[in-house]
Amino acid sequence: MQPIKFRTIEEAKTLEVPKTSRKVIEKAQSAVDFVLNGNASRLIKVKAIFEAADDIIAEISPLSVCKKGCNYCCHIDVLITEIEAKYIEKNTGKVVRLNGVNNKVHGKPRTPCTLLGADGACSIYSYRPLVCRAFLTFDSPTYCQESSIEHVTYDSRGHPNLKNLGEVLIHLNNASGFKDIREYFPLDV
Ligand code: SF4
Repeated sequence: MQPIKFRTIEEAKTLEVPKTSRKVIEKAQSAVDFVLNGNASRLIKVKAIFEAADDIIAEISPLSVCKKGCNYCCHIDVLITEIEAKYIEKNTGKVVRLNGVNNKVHGKPRTPCTLLGADGACSIYSYRPLVCRAFLTFDSPTYCQESSIEHVTYDSRGHPNLKNLGEVLIHLNNASGFKDIREYFPLDV
């Protein structure tokens, strides 16, 4: 594994996010068109959204300091759509509880996502929701530990095509809303 880079917040602010390649933009546009007009199941469309988002992030992530096993961002609120929860269930066998509330973890800071593995890595990595795919840190994991520090992160709001993919995901969700991932997948207590 490559060593984790550390930058100060000031250094990270000077970074220039690379321009997304034409090929990747076209794939994202095709995915949006497929979601809106294609003849396929909603879960196949979720996969197309994720694949297009991954290609965008792959061109930006060389700037990030995120590495497997670093999981501070898995300890904050993780809002996902119901259709993403169903996508996780379909592909991993983890049972989604559409009416689940786990008061033991929900709403309390610094409680890990219930899908975080004992090894510190995401146990459903290939099927993780959009918010997890599109979140990067550009300075240092040290700052991620401190929720009170404003530091240099990246998420889907920073890229027009990622934003579009997020919007069609919401469209696909049929107004079912968002919940914290810990409610869809509560700990067995
Ligand atoms: S789904 Fe995976 S990446 Fe996302 S918060 Fe949970 S453990 Fe972390």
